[in-house]
Amino acid sequence: MRWFLIVLLLGCRPDPRIAVPASRGVAIGTVTLEWSNVHAVFGEHVLLVDTGSQGELYQLEQGMKQIGVRLGDVKCAVVTHGHADHAGTARALQLKGIRIIAGAGDRARNARGEHGAHNPTGLFSRMLAWFLPETYKPFTADVVVTDRFDLAPCGVAGEVIAVGGHTAGSVVVVVGKVALVGDLFRGGRLAGFVDRTEPMVHFYQDDKAHAHEQIRALVRRGVELFVLGHGGPAIRSEVIETFGK
Ligand SMILES: [Zn+2]
Repeated sequence: MRWFLIVLLLGCRPDPRIAVPASRGVAIGTVTLEWSNVHAVFGEHVLLVDTGSQGELYQLEQGMKQIGVRLGDVKCAVVTHGHADHAGTARALQLKGIRIIAGAGDRARNARGEHGAHNPTGLFSRMLAWFLPETYKPFTADVVVTDRFDLAPCGVAGEVIAVGGHTAGSVVVVVGKVALVGDLFRGGRLAGFVDRTEPMVHFYQDDKAHAHEQIRALVRRGVELFVLGHGGPAIRSEVIETFGK
C-alpha cells in the first residue's frame, strides 16, 4: 500500500519550478519531493526553506539544479518544523556547510530525530499517518529561533518568526509580502491532487486554534502570498475566505 501511494504521489508531482515570480518582490523556486516541498528564496544568496525527508539529498540537489541553484551556493536553510518530511535532510545539508535554522520549541524533537505525535485533524489524515516517515537524522540547529531572526547574514532581506501551532517550534519565513509558512495550512483538494493552490486545513495540527490564529496574524501583517509545505502557493483573498482575518 505504501508503494502504491508513493507511485501515485510521484505520478502527480509537479516538476521543479519558479513558483513565485520576481514580480511578487521576491523570486521563489520550489522542488516537490516525495512528501513535501522545498523552497529556494533567491536573495544575495539562496535560502532554502525546508529540507524534505531523510535520504532525499540527491533528489533535492537534482531538483535545485533544474531551477539554477547549486547547494554549494546556499548559506542557510530554515526548517519550518521538526516533522520527518520537512527536517529529514537538515543534517545532510549541515554536513555540507549549510547553517540550519530551526524553532526553539522543536529542539528536543530535532535532537531525537523523531516525528512525534501526529494529532490528525480528520479521518483521512488518521489513515495517511500510517504511511508517513517517522524518523530522520537527528541534528542540532546552528541558529535556534525563540522569537525572531533577521535573515541578513543568510543573504535574504527577510526574517524568521517563531509561531508554534503546527508544532511547538514551528517557524515561518517572511520576505516582503510573501510568507513561507510550512504546515500552518496546506493547499489542494483530494489530498492536494486537485486545485493545489486552494487553502485547506492541514492534516495534522498540535494546536489547531493557535496555528489558524497565526495565519490570521500574517494576513493582518499584510502578507499577499502564502508559500506552503504541501501544494500552494495560496493568495491572500482565498486564505481570508478559509481562515478569516
Ligand atoms: Zn508537518
